[in-house]
Amino acid sequence: MIQAVPNIILHAADIQKNFGGLRALSDIDLQIEEGKTHAIIGPNGAGKSTLLNVIIGRLPPSSGAVIFDGAVLTGKAPHEINQLGISRVFQTPEIFPDLSVLQNVMAPAFARRDGAFKANMFRSVDSEVEIRDEALSLLEDIGLVDRLDHTAGALSRGDKRRLELAMCLIQRPRLLLLDEPTAGMSRHDTNTTIDLLKKIKSRGMTKVIIEHDMHVVFSLADKISVLAQGRIIATGLPQEIKEDPRVKEAYLGGSVE
Ligand code: ADP
Ligand code: MG
Repeated sequence: MIQAVPNIILHAADIQKNFGGLRALSDIDLQIEEGKTHAIIGPNGAGKSTLLNVIIGRLPPSSGAVIFDGAVLTGKAPHEINQLGISRVFQTPEIFPDLSVLQNVMAPAFARRDGAFKANMFRSVDSEVEIRDEALSLLEDIGLVDRLDHTAGALSRGDKRRLELAMCLIQRPRLLLLDEPTAGMSRHDTNTTIDLLKKIKSRGMTKVIIEHDMHVVFSLADKISVLAQGRIIATGLPQEIKEDPRVKEAYLGGSVE
């Protein structure tokens, strides 16, 4: 059970999560293939953010276990899970508001260099110049390179979200979890973010993306799981999900986010 399954980098096995009398997650069995983009969609209140919080250790499951690359995550602290190579973009951006845009992107790389990232401990140590170059390249990718000296706290909400994405990417996680990464963005910024996420895919990073924007989901996902009332009601290829009557019913029966 605890052995690493080939190609499955993350396995959320038989997860239940109760909040008092409310069962937010039931019988969740989610397997994420290495190198793929797996989208989780579902109506508002379905339990998507709760599932992500269980995976990253912010919430303990009521029962069940999360296994990452053969290691049981359940019971570990969020920072320990992060050190194993899992990063998450939050629904509300978590940045350093008083630092510059460039300093925000460089900060997690220093933490990485200082040995926080055990998964990469055999990598050669990066110099400050290399870290700066990598940060600049990411800022170019997310379209913020012209604002690198701006105070991060003064950015728009959409720009803060992209900044936070760059802060995650510079950690070079093996698994990136994104909770509605394009929420609050204009169509133009959404498309820039889709392009960036496609670029990451070609670098082989595994991604789990929670998204209500179907344009984003169908542009990026290799596989889709549908969560409704705390249960996974379908998992399949994008085309299969599009045509699944249970999915249509779940969306018609509840409010679409
Ligand atoms: P989604 O992200 O799919 O919109 P959530 O995971 O945020 O859904 O919420 C799933 C259910 O769990 C909702 O009914 C929500 O009200 C409830 N819930 C989420 N977090 C908590 C919490 N910390 N305490 C109590 N109930 C919660
Ligand atoms: Mg949510």
